[in-house]
Amino acid sequence: QTKMSRPVQARRLEGIDKNIWVEFVKLAATYSKVNLGQGFPDFPAPDFLKEAFTRALGGNHMLHQYTRAFGHPPLVKVLAQFFEKLLGRDLDPMTNVMVTVGAYQALFCCFQALVDEGDEVIIIEPFFDCYEPMVKMAGGTPVFVPLRPNPPKDGKLMSSADWQLDAAELASKFSERTKALVLNSPNNPLGKVFSRGELGLIAELCVKHDVLCISDEVYEWLVYDGKQHIRIASLQGMWDRTVIIGSAGKTFSATGWKVGWVVGPDGLLQHLRTVHQNSVYHCATIAQEAVAQGFQRELMLYGKPDSYFVQLPKELQQKRDWLVQSLDAVGMKPIVPEGTYFLVADISQFKSDVPDVPNSDEPYDYRFAKWMVKNKGLAAIPLSAFYSEAHKNNYTNFIRFCFAKEEATLKAANDILQKWKQEKTSS
Ligand code: PMP
Repeated sequence: QTKMSRPVQARRLEGIDKNIWVEFVKLAATYSKVNLGQGFPDFPAPDFLKEAFTRALGGNHMLHQYTRAFGHPPLVKVLAQFFEKLLGRDLDPMTNVMVTVGAYQALFCCFQALVDEGDEVIIIEPFFDCYEPMVKMAGGTPVFVPLRPNPPKDGKLMSSADWQLDAAELASKFSERTKALVLNSPNNPLGKVFSRGELGLIAELCVKHDVLCISDEVYEWLVYDGKQHIRIASLQGMWDRTVIIGSAGKTFSATGWKVGWVVGPDGLLQHLRTVHQNSVYHCATIAQEAVAQGFQRELMLYGKPDSYFVQLPKELQQKRDWLVQSLDAVGMKPIVPEGTYFLVADISQFKSDVPDVPNSDEPYDYRFAKWMVKNKGLAAIPLSAFYSEAHKNNYTNFIRFCFAKEEATLKAANDILQKWKQEKTSS
């Protein structure tokens, strides 16, 4: 106990001390036999990437020292080349690209650099949970707008495409106080890949109200069924107001390396550099060198069958289909994701399995996820964790699974679900 007569913590920490991952990572570590909770692959990173790291480790000894603060030159150069191709515009590696400690630090730099006391930031629900505390820590006010589910009438499985923004509702969230909108496509947790029409609507509103767009595109390569990931920065009037965020962790299945980046106009990035130079300053050189080599390879193989950015989504689409089938077979209605390695399933049929906890106001999906990991050994994350306090209670019938897992892991999950179903039908 600290003996001080006043609070030791800064006011900016008020109300942001809770974090879903701390609790659920611990539960999964204690009870899970199969962990489809937290979002990272349990299969190895590709050999070409690991080999690049090993080469860097034993190569030029200067790779063990600091490198350029705003990004190791080989990495910002190849990222600029790559994004020139994707965006169809010339980029300066020194001013239009910055390397960060994962996409997480990229997000932190955006909010700290661009959001002021009193600014409003529009966040589309459900959302990657760190956006809300990061906006608040910057002194801003998050304004939430939900994707609304429209169940298909033909009895088909729901798709993440069936979750849509209401155009009038979205427009109503913009005000003179709106500074930025956070877009996450493909979206964690739903796996929604925003369509050109949806992005056009968002872009139009951003331009009309002179609002910035923080575009979290860490799952840009994980898109299925031939769908296309469209970059909002490529739409009319958007380049100058958009920061694109990416992650080598998601791109190359190496989340532990924590290499991320931002791409955008110098007018925005110059302020992100100010935050970066006053907080983190340097990112691990060897990891940046290896990621640069990974991108060199991908630049050479761009669009070809051997490209990791072609192979990884192909493999993951198969894994998605397996998990969709296993969940559907036991009556956990899956919402088929168009992208990412997440899948949200409807658990409303399972209410009788989960005992009521007296005197608890814990939502059903939290109770379900805790009960499932303790009693079935299967870990997943309650969906309402990805909603604001005000809207949580409307979305307590879903949980999120991650399917970036080895075949054996997915098979073990399927076995648990099958056994569970047998117990249900025999009781
Ligand atoms: N944005 C989204 C939408 C994510 O899902 C994640 C990781 N779960 C991140 C950002 C953070 O990425 P990184 O590991 O590169 O910091």
